[in-house]
Amino acid sequence: MTPIAYEKAADIDAAAAGIQTMPGSGPVIGGIRFVAGGTNLLDLMKAQVMRPEKLVDINGLPLDRIETTEDGGLMLGALARNADTAYHPMVRTRFPVLSAAILAGASPQLRNMATNGGNLLQRTRCYYFYDTGVPCNKRTPGSGCSAIGGLSRQHAILGASEHCIATHPSDMCVALAALDARVHVKSAGGTRVIPFDQFHRLPGDRPDLDSTLEPGDLITHIELPPSDEFSAHSSYLKIRERASYAFALVSAAAMLDLSEDGIIRAARIALGSVAHKPWRQPEAEALLVGNRPTPENFAQVGDALLRDAVGQGANDYKIPMARRAVVRALEMAAAGIRSNTGLLAAESEAEKP
Ligand SMILES: Cc1cc2nc3c(=O)[nH]c(=O)nc-3n(C[C@H](O)[C@H](O)[C@H](O)COP(=O)(O)OP(=O)(O)OC[C@H]3O[C@@H](n4cnc5c(N)ncnc54)[C@H](O)[C@@H]3O)c2cc1C
Ligand code: SF4
Repeated sequence: MTPIAYEKAADIDAAAAGIQTMPGSGPVIGGIRFVAGGTNLLDLMKAQVMRPEKLVDINGLPLDRIETTEDGGLMLGALARNADTAYHPMVRTRFPVLSAAILAGASPQLRNMATNGGNLLQRTRCYYFYDTGVPCNKRTPGSGCSAIGGLSRQHAILGASEHCIATHPSDMCVALAALDARVHVKSAGGTRVIPFDQFHRLPGDRPDLDSTLEPGDLITHIELPPSDEFSAHSSYLKIRERASYAFALVSAAAMLDLSEDGIIRAARIALGSVAHKPWRQPEAEALLVGNRPTPENFAQVGDALLRDAVGQGANDYKIPMARRAVVRALEMAAAGIRSNTGLLAAESEAEKP
């Protein structure tokens, strides 16, 4: 039996100031960790992949609200559950790509437990990360990467390094990347706001670090800036091996701002499960501005986004799959189809004239 200390955080300041927790990444043995829904951390502890000395339970903190901001955006509490976020009327109507992405992930039971903050810090699903009997630089820095030359069907095609080819598994984060979300963090040093594209890291030579959080950082909120010009044409596409309960092989969040005469005023497209972080490239999105939403124009964006993609052999199939996912997600957005999975897909179907 491994003894684990447990403490309930009394308030936000105490949680952020008094406790030098490890962020949701970094060395896996020892240290203190926050626990929210527990759906990832407790699984990793059961598998002996993460072995904290102490858990600080943050569930009692008043961080579960979803509120509008002064500029018309939305502030999602870090402890709001994924299900409450996805079904919130403001999220469904004004940020439908986020509802669609959350509802494409996991199962209803898991979404009822999982929190927004925890979703950002869920760890890779690389099989070798979970297998403590084999080398893994993310789990044990310097030990090597078993996926390179091993089973790499689900691994990265963009932004990987010689030290790690893992992907970030979240669906929610792909939508947050497209929405230009901002992560609000509190620590002993004060508060700060991290733009979403700077929140997750590429592996480089420190694959043990998933995010740019520092020890002691508590995520308090995720801010969605207003993006109503995109809400009628936003969609989330998830490609997976099984119809339910599976992580994406490739996913794409697409958002289009279309003028009345059908010209693209702005476009955003983020890819999931292709890299160590959600993948966006504003230069590729800019190719669409001033053009019509045609498959040929969408294909150019796919080509630009995947230009530097490199496979490991077993995951080469992901490169054409991701290219096609870009085209299909943008086609769905143009047609007002919100999702290809679950309830929202059925609703989009029912709403067709
Ligand atoms: C069977 C299964 C299938 C799944 N399928 C999918 C899927 O298809 N798509 C998908 O996107 N996800 C999927 N998930 C992952 C699920 O979404 C995550 O496990 C969940 O979002 C994590 O949230 P949590 O609150 O339970 O986090 P926890 O497990 O409580 O915490 C995760 C990490 O975040 C840290 N943390 C939590 N909150 C904070 C905070 N406020 N500040 C700082 N650190 C914090 C913890 O210390 C820990 O390191 C699946 C999970 C399971 C078990
Ligand atoms: S890909 Fe990353 S997580 Fe997987 S074995 Fe290699 S170092 Fe570990």
